[in-house]
Amino acid sequence: MKIKKDKYLRERGGNAKFIEVLCASCGKLILVYQKDGPGWLKRCYLNRIIEPTQYDLKSKDPTINEKNLGNLTCSCGKIIGSPMRHKDNRLAFHLIRGNFIRKIHKE
Ligand SMILES: [Zn+2]
Repeated sequence: MKIKKDKYLRERGGNAKFIEVLCASCGKLILVYQKDGPGWLKRCYLNRIIEPTQYDLKSKDPTINEKNLGNLTCSCGKIIGSPMRHKDNRLAFHLIRGNFIRKIHKE
């Protein structure tokens, strides 16, 4: 996996790691996320979701907004996150604590 190097990475101190988000109910891998900078995982910006790639594409689609994006949901039905727009205008999923497991991605 290749780290995205852009202004967001620089703003967050230049450190990035990949984090796997898994469903807390069934253990299925929901996505792989590039986390820039320190801290726990509270939200996933669409343009930082490395896999699946559909979310990064959605982040570039002007017709997609926080009203029509829909929840981030596991195939088992568990809601992992809800759509939001951050103050820097990026679309994100606000992750629901307890509904997901966070794992460091090892390459
Ligand atoms: Zn699940």
